[in-house]
Amino acid sequence: MRAAVLEAPHHLAVRDVAVPQGGGELAVVRVEQAGVCGTDRKVVDGSMPTTFPRVIGHELVGRVVDGGGGAGAPAIGTRVLVDPSMSCGWCDTCRRGLVHLCPSGGLMGRDVDGGLAELVAVPASRLHVVPETVSDDDAALLQVLGTCVHAQRQVDVFPSDHAVVVGLGVSGLLHLQLLRARGATTVVGVGRSASKRALADELGATVTCTPDEAAGVVAEVTGGNGPEVVVEAAGTGATVSLAVELAGYGATVVIFGTVVGANHSLPFYDLYRKELRLVNPRAAVGRDYDDAIAVVASGEVRGAPLVTERLPIADAPAVLAGWYDQPGRLKVVFEP
Ligand SMILES: [Zn+2]
Ligand SMILES: [Zn+2]
Repeated sequence: MRAAVLEAPHHLAVRDVAVPQGGGELAVVRVEQAGVCGTDRKVVDGSMPTTFPRVIGHELVGRVVDGGGGAGAPAIGTRVLVDPSMSCGWCDTCRRGLVHLCPSGGLMGRDVDGGLAELVAVPASRLHVVPETVSDDDAALLQVLGTCVHAQRQVDVFPSDHAVVVGLGVSGLLHLQLLRARGATTVVGVGRSASKRALADELGATVTCTPDEAAGVVAEVTGGNGPEVVVEAAGTGATVSLAVELAGYGATVVIFGTVVGANHSLPFYDLYRKELRLVNPRAAVGRDYDDAIAVVASGEVRGAPLVTERLPIADAPAVLAGWYDQPGRLKVVFEP
C-alpha cells in the first residue's frame, strides 16, 4: 500500500510499505482522510524527534475493514475517528487514570507508524464512531477538536463570562466556537492575519483585532474588567505573555499552544498581581473525542470552513516542505 514515509529529517517520500495486519485487539481502518498539522511539520523537519522510517499522520478518519476482537468494537464498514495516542497501561501515571500523559506512551505518526497511508492498524478501543450525517470536511477537524475539548474541560465558563482567544489558526478557531457554544457572553479573537480574523468573525467572534489592538479592544468589550478566560492558541512566548497581560483578575489562562525552546520570559508580576490560574493541557482522552463528535454533529462547532485544501497523498512531501509559503493555509487534508 502507499504511505507517506519519513526516511530522515526533511526526506518524506510516498512509497509502498507492508500492509498492516489486524487480529487480536487490532482493527484495520481504511483511511479516507488524514489531516496534517504543526506536529507533522515538526516531525518532518526534525524539531520533534522520531525514528526512521516512520509513516507520519495522526488526524485520521476512515472505515473499519477488519473489526478487531472484543465486545463493542465497531462493525466492519463503520466510519470512525482514530484516537492517535498510546499508553502503556502499567505505569503509575496510567494507573492514576492519566493515560494521555503516560511517560511510555506516544503519538501515532511520531512514536509509532501513523496513518497518512491507505490502511492503518489500531486497537479497536481507540476508534470513535463518526455519524454519517457529519460531512467529510467537518470530520477532518475532529481529532484537533478533541484536544480542544480536553483543554476547555479544565476551565469553567459561565454565561456571563468574557473570553479571549489569542491566535486564530485551526485550534484558535475551534476554541472560539467552543467558547461560544459553552455560553461565553463575548469572545474576542486576536490574530495577525486579516483573512483568519474574517473567518473568526464568520464563526461567531464578538469582535476581532490584531495583537497590537488587543489591550484596548478587550478593555472596551469587558468594561475594563478583563476576561475570565483566555485561551492561548499560537504557541509562542510572545502570545503566552499577551494572554497573561490580557487576562482579568482571577482569570484562567489556558496555554493550548505548544511552546518549544527555553529562555522565554513571562510577565510574572501580572501572574501574581492578578492571581491567575494557568493550565497547560496536552492530549485528549477517549471521552473528549466523543464530545467533539457530538458538538460537530449538532452543528454547534463547524470544522468545514477551516479546510483549505484537500489533496492526494502524493502531494504530501511538497505541501509539508513548503508550508510557510502559504500564509492563508489552515487545515490541509490528504486522501490516501
Ligand atoms: Zn495534529
Ligand atoms: Zn503508562
